[in-house]
Amino acid sequence: MKVELLEATPDPEEVICRAARNDYMSEYGADMSFEEVMADVEGDTLEERKRTLIGHLLNHGHFGPFEHAQATFHVEGMSRSCMAQLTRHRHVSFDVQSMRYVAFDDVDPADVAEGELVVTPPSASDPDWVGRNQKGGAVDEETVAKREEVFTESVRRSVEDYQELLDLGMPPEDARFVLPIGTEVNVVMSLNARMLMHVADMRAAADAQWEIRTLTEDVLDLAADWCPLTFDYYEEHMKNRKNRLAP
Ligand SMILES: Cc1cc2nc3c(=O)[nH]c(=O)nc-3n(C[C@H](O)[C@H](O)[C@H](O)COP(=O)(O)OP(=O)(O)OC[C@H]3O[C@@H](n4cnc5c(N)ncnc54)[C@H](O)[C@@H]3O)c2cc1C
Repeated sequence: MKVELLEATPDPEEVICRAARNDYMSEYGADMSFEEVMADVEGDTLEERKRTLIGHLLNHGHFGPFEHAQATFHVEGMSRSCMAQLTRHRHVSFDVQSMRYVAFDDVDPADVAEGELVVTPPSASDPDWVGRNQKGGAVDEETVAKREEVFTESVRRSVEDYQELLDLGMPPEDARFVLPIGTEVNVVMSLNARMLMHVADMRAAADAQWEIRTLTEDVLDLAADWCPLTFDYYEEHMKNRKNRLAP
């Protein structure tokens, strides 16, 4: 899976700070420079003032200002299973690669057995992998070899059957019914910084599945470059706390 930041609010932390300061100022902030807007916030430099205000907002649960900073990510190759989890978040906007207009008719089923087109969970080949609801998961080498064989043969055959149905004239949107839930999909998603923290609360947590957790960690890394004071604070003080209902 690959995640790229496509577009984002150019100076997200200025927008967040201006929005928050608006709440407590009698003046109209749009007529003022950012330095003037931040003048009463504690700190020797503008950067320190931004850090003070953002930390204060997050610490006090004043999350509204973080809705003004928006980012768009492009994800390549997440499984449809992961997509079903991600798209449950109602304040995120999505565009999902269509299986009606994109037919996987040129993929070689032999390559599918090698990992193309269908995401292979680590548990297919890791004998020590323990699932979330499993009491014990470790198996011997022979068992895991069989597990891997069953998995790869099943996805290879699914894609072969799918292509045969296409050859028999079935429309791609119907032939896809035989494809596995692990089939890869590309997704564009847009969300604001508040929602990103909420998604991270739920999906970077230890009880989230490995794939959506990896995706969320990648998104958090990109967010830390884009909106550094906010996501540094999130990483240091908020991440992995017991999930809050609506941060
Ligand atoms: C580990 C894990 C296991 C899960 N297992 C399952 C499962 O087995 N089956 C299943 O169906 N789902 C499951 N989910 C999905 C979960 O129940 C949520 O639907 C999903 O994570 C979306 O998050 P959210 O409820 O915070 O809503 P979001 O859409 O992310 O909305 C953000 C916040 O806005 C508020 N909000 C949004 N819409 C409403 C509304 N209509 N009414 C009131 N408040 C609202 C809430 O405060 C919400 O927290 C699982 C999630 C996780 C993390």
